Amino acid sequence: MAKAVLITGSNLGDTKAYMTAAQQAIEHHVGRIVAASGLWESEPWGFEAPQRFLNQVLVVETALSPEELLTATAAIESHLGRTHKGEFSPDGQRCYHSRTMDIDILFYDNTVYRSPRLTIPHPLLQDRAFVLGPLCEVMPEYVHPVLHQTIRDLDRALSKKNENA
Ligand code: AMP
Repeated sequence: MAKAVLITGSNLGDTKAYMTAAQQAIEHHVGRIVAASGLWESEPWGFEAPQRFLNQVLVVETALSPEELLTATAAIESHLGRTHKGEFSPDGQRCYHSRTMDIDILFYDNTVYRSPRLTIPHPLLQDRAFVLGPLCEVMPEYVHPVLHQTIRDLDRALSKKNENA
């Protein structure tokens, strides 16, 4: 069994209900949830939207491989009504949209993995306060296998960077 760390997020419709539904679907299709952060509220990142996000970090014991895990989380997103996924604007910029459910894979044991559709650890997690906050709640001492810093140190570094911005 591997330990996968996921973050779920929702900013469309009944966000609380979507977060609960995602937890249930993850238990059913991915594996047992062994740790969970609280629900964190955050502003949309990379785009403007009327509704704030709810985010939650989940640690899941899973028998799925990283690629199987991505297939499973994408199926849960679609099942929960996610329509836009991985889109780019004509000038090549990443497009972000409001979504009923977004599930990102943050870590998979200490694995460093890259394929055309999947990068683990998630390449932007160190830039996102809405990820590091709930991660810090669940696993502050975990050492990022590429950056070789603890989650707590990454969180402090980002807060400092944002204070000086
Ligand atoms: P997004 O629209 O931000 O949820 O992600 C779009 C695409 O990012 C997905 O369809 C995946 O193929 C790709 N991706 C790459 N690395 C990851 C990751 N660690 N977790 C989730 N999606 C990923």
